[in-house]
Amino acid sequence: MASAEGGLASLSHPPQETSREALQRELDDAIIRTAGSHRRDDALSVVHISPSDHSRVQSSILTSSIVSRTGLGALDRLPVELLLQALQHMDMQALFNLRRVNLRARQMIDSLKEYRAVVSHGLTAYCALLRMGLAAHVTLLDFYRVLCSQDCAFCGKFGGFVFLPSWIRCCFECIEEDPETRMVTVAEVRRVFRLSRAEVGRQRVCQTMPGLYRRRLYSTEKSYQRRRLRLLPWFPAMREFGDRLETKGVRARHWHRWDPAHNFMASCELPYYDSQIQAVEYGISCAGCEARTVEQDPGQASRPADVPWDRLFSRDNFLKHFKICRQAQKLWESSPEAALEAIIKRDVHHE
Ligand SMILES: [Zn+2]
Ligand SMILES: [Zn+2]
Repeated sequence: MASAEGGLASLSHPPQETSREALQRELDDAIIRTAGSHRRDDALSVVHISPSDHSRVQSSILTSSIVSRTGLGALDRLPVELLLQALQHMDMQALFNLRRVNLRARQMIDSLKEYRAVVSHGLTAYCALLRMGLAAHVTLLDFYRVLCSQDCAFCGKFGGFVFLPSWIRCCFECIEEDPETRMVTVAEVRRVFRLSRAEVGRQRVCQTMPGLYRRRLYSTEKSYQRRRLRLLPWFPAMREFGDRLETKGVRARHWHRWDPAHNFMASCELPYYDSQIQAVEYGISCAGCEARTVEQDPGQASRPADVPWDRLFSRDNFLKHFKICRQAQKLWESSPEAALEAIIKRDVHHE
């Protein structure tokens, strides 16, 4: 796999690309700049980490200098290939710890293409896993596999986010609506199911990070959550302990204790990494569809049924959508860059 990727690394600007293909790529980029938009607000409604915080952790995640020069102990007796495999199957917390204490471990970990991709493109999610106490549940290979997937595991659309407790790629809509992303407080789950401490310990409990989060479903309003909460996903607990809910009164009490804002505290943005061309995509929404929806219904507070601009597209799918979206085409035609299209057509013709 490593050698295949090495060979494909040059594809981001392939030397064998014809001038026609290069012009088409340039045209596609211009269309995306004009008629596509990145819904930044969604990313800032869930777990996010400021760039200044990134630079603080980078010293230990990327370039730790506080290292001893001892070996790897028992691990050192393994052949290098086996050692690298063992590192790939280690969880992100163990890698973090190992990397901090040992120079040789740091060099070995940094030599893994999976690790380099994770710290280059998934640093926010990695920091969130570490700070929320979830890093021991995700191996390096799990992380890399989800980083390199692009579809929401719940609905199949482009998913620009990850649900941290189960480490599943998802879209923003599924963070709001899918039952699997429902988060509740530990205290609430203990109360409803009468859980022991040991039973709670087996769940994916996370400690939320202070920050700005969306307050309600389908609203752009945010508020600052200072207190760190202990949350866990509702449905795994429900599957395991649901039979304890037979008492009617208990069931009735629970459903009033779910705060939808908690869902936003357990997910963060995760771009899709295309390892073949070594490029990332955050998802593109259609500025044409968005403008039309706002025009039709400026005061919309709840999610309207099936509005197309709610969608995030991959690059390829956005370009397909553009071909059938009159509104997006109008934006493009009125943009200064549209002149590019005529130039490209002329040049390709004369080729
Ligand atoms: Zn989805
Ligand atoms: Zn559109």
